[in-house]
Parts: sequence; structure tokens; C-alpha cells
Amino acid sequence: MALRNVIVIGSGPAGCTAAIYAARAGLEPLLVAGLLQGGQLTQSSGVENWPGAHHFPSGFELMESLLEHVRKFDVEILQDSVSTLTREDGVFSLHMAGGEVLTARSVIAATGSSARYLGIPGEDRFRGSGISACATCDGFFFRKKRVVVIGGGNTAVTDALYLAGLGAKTSLVHRRNEFRCEKILTDKLMSAAGEGRISLHLSKVPLEFVGGESLEGVRIRDTVTGEESVLATDGVFEAVGHVPNTGYLEGLLELDRGYIPLAGDPEHATATAVPGLFAAGDVANARYQQAVVAAGSGCMAALDAEHYLSML
Ligand code: NAP
Repeated sequence: MALRNVIVIGSGPAGCTAAIYAARAGLEPLLVAGLLQGGQLTQSSGVENWPGAHHFPSGFELMESLLEHVRKFDVEILQDSVSTLTREDGVFSLHMAGGEVLTARSVIAATGSSARYLGIPGEDRFRGSGISACATCDGFFFRKKRVVVIGGGNTAVTDALYLAGLGAKTSLVHRRNEFRCEKILTDKLMSAAGEGRISLHLSKVPLEFVGGESLEGVRIRDTVTGEESVLATDGVFEAVGHVPNTGYLEGLLELDRGYIPLAGDPEHATATAVPGLFAAGDVANARYQQAVVAAGSGCMAALDAEHYLSML
């Protein structure tokens, strides 16, 4: 395959925006979309904070429209993922999971992050058959059943509200007695709890998933009294954070707790320690993990790549 100017890896808000800007700059980018085209935002039940989208689209709808925007600029989209990224003599080689090897002068890494799992006993046994990390994907199966959501961030609270809205008998288990989500979500949660639509189990640490043929409950411990109990449930939705998708970068640059460190160049904010490698979105940002920030940094990465290529 021909040597590309720029390859964008990842098709979430960061990758799509980078592809749009790179295409408009005449760089003829290739977008490696990964296996989940549109990224993790496609799994969000509703997006209320994308400026201008005041009809609150689902994450899937929003990403479909972003991808359509990318296609409008004739960007080639490859449905594959990168296993390893290397660089030699100023040229990047992208070794694809499908076996192909792509080459480019510059790369924009916008691979986002994936749901983290707790790693407690019983999880492996019931993951995919009772335990999920995607309420919008699997919530439908639990409409009239009991579900437990674990976590206290934006995802956990959004998921709990979504599941309760589907008619599931919803409990929220959180290890502290305060939430780290936006106030608007805490307010909605408290109002749902007040109406008896969500039951809150605060200061409770999940210890183990229990069951026979199928999942039957979560063993939890009260962090104040130390008392243990089993919360009976048909399904569990884990919302305990995310891990950056950076495995393909091992050996190319040193990561910071799994995230891509930016070089700190004030003129080219998305530059990394590797010349020609730029990073955008959640994969390089542990702090502001918001779709609109990801999109903005995707724009910056495309501008930085354009400048880098112009200097070669
Ligand atoms: P998060 O903010 O990192 O929250 C993870 C939650 O899981 C925290 O409440 C944490 O508890 C809990 N947790 C972590 N490890 C645990 C463990 N071992 N046992 C029990 N509980 C555990 O993750 P997130 O909610 O997925 O959000 C990730 C990022 O995406 C955030 O920046 C968030 O703002 C953003 N996001 C934004 C929106 C939106 O804009 N509407 C929607 C979704 C996500 P502690 O609180 O005690 O640490």
C-alpha cells in the first residue's frame, strides 16, 4: 500500500474530527476505525452536552452523523485495528490485526479507552451472561428484572437512570457516599431514589459475584461497619472507569499509567515524544474525558500533523 501522509487511528469524536480536518487540508488521510466504529460514545444512551445537539441524541446517533461527515470528505475508512505501531527512518508502520501493514509519514493516535472491569471473583464466570459494561447494549434484556450498577461516576449514574427508565428494578452500589458525577446527574439520581425507582447502596465495596448456573447476586461489604451481605440481582452493569487503549504503542514510547504523554510543546500541543506521532482524545487525557474535548483535540492534532508534514 502507498505511503500515506497521515493515518488516523480511532473513529470516536477525536479521530473523526482529525480526519475531517486532515481531509480538508488535502492530506488524504486514512481512518483506521477499529472494530467498534464510532468508538465508546456509541454505547452512551444519551448525550446532553454536545453543543448544538439540543435534541440530546444517543451516542450512536451522534457518532453516525460524525462518521457521515467524515465520509463526505471521501476519507478512506478501514475497519481493522492496529496491533503494533513502529517507526523507522521517519516512516511509521502500522501492523494491522488483519495482517496488512500500512505506512505513513505521520500518525494521529485517537484510540480512546475501554471499560474497566473490577477483576473480582465470579466476574470471569458471568461476564457476558449477567455481567456487562454497556447498559445501552444489554439493558434491554433486563427490562423487568433486577439490576445492580456499580460505580459513582457519570457513566454509573447515567446507566442507572437509563436502566430504571427501561423498567428494571435498579440498585446502585458505590464504594463512597458521594458521587463524582456532574451535579445535574446527582440531582436526577436523588430524585429517582426519592421516588423509589433506584435504590442506593452507598459505602459498599463489591467483593464477589455469586450464582449457580446464572448470576444470582453481588457480595458487598459496608465500608463503615464491615458487615457483608449479598445483594440479589439478575444482572450487573459495571461502570468503574476506563483504561486507555494503548497496547499497540508498547516499545514505541513510554506511557504514563497507560495514557500517551504529550510532549508539552506549546506550539504543537498534541505532539508526543515521537516525531510525527500526535495524540488526541481520551487516550492522551486522563482529566477531561469529554466528547467535545476529544473533538477539539482531534482538530488540534490534524493541524499539528499538517504543520509537521509541511516541514519535512
Ligand atoms: P470515572 O469517572 O472514573 O468513575 C468510576 C467510578 O467507579 C468512580 O465512582 C469510582 O469510585 C468507581 N470505582 C473505580 N474503581 C472501583 C473499584 N475497584 N471498586 C468500586 N468502585 C470503583 O468513570 P466514568 O464514569 O466511566 O467516566 C469516565 C470519564 O468519562 C469521566 O471523565 C467522565 O466525566 C466522562 N464521562 C462523561 C459523561 C458525560 O459528560 N455525561 C458520561 C460518561 C462519562 P470513586 O468515586 O470512589 O473513585
